Amino acid sequence: MKIGILALQGAVREHARLVEACGHEAVPIKRVEELKHIDGLILPGGESTTMRRLMDRYGFTEVLRQSSLPMFGTCAGLILLAENVTDQTCGHLGKLDITVARNSFGRQVDSFEAQLDVRGIDEKAEAVFIRAPHIVSAGSGVEILSETAGKTVAVRSERHLGISFHPELTDSTVFHQYFIDMVASLAAETIR
Ligand code: GLN
Repeated sequence: MKIGILALQGAVREHARLVEACGHEAVPIKRVEELKHIDGLILPGGESTTMRRLMDRYGFTEVLRQSSLPMFGTCAGLILLAENVTDQTCGHLGKLDITVARNSFGRQVDSFEAQLDVRGIDEKAEAVFIRAPHIVSAGSGVEILSETAGKTVAVRSERHLGISFHPELTDSTVFHQYFIDMVASLAAETIR
């Protein structure tokens, strides 16, 4: 399978390393046309306002809003996927029926690591939180996968996976494998 990684800002190479560790091809995506050749797309962390500006400049925002590609957003990428962001009048891509709050765990110096229990996954997932958002509320089509410190930090819908933290800064492939399994089962459904 070919998993694209939006390569406008953020830890693109680190995500690619984990996709490859799962045995799949990682494709950095710099131009809209390149979206045609992938099966799923990762939106990495970074700074969501800056990423949105770059997405607008390179023509991604509208195309991704219309796209049915499965997407996996990490940290700032989760903010991009959310329908609502608490300190903004409207969301960015509106893919996940959730409201997120930004910078929910303190400042950069308060960054921390955690071992998370994740619904549907047996092993613990390693997670690095850096100025991370959390999920304040989720609609009925959204499943809550993980919580830490009383806050929801991982959710999924049928086609979209969103997490507050950075798995790509660890060696844990748990979430990348989870997303690849999602992409594979959606692809199998289309063939059937
Ligand atoms: N705080 C950032 C934002 O609001 C996200 C931080 C991250 O991706 N590590 O976009």
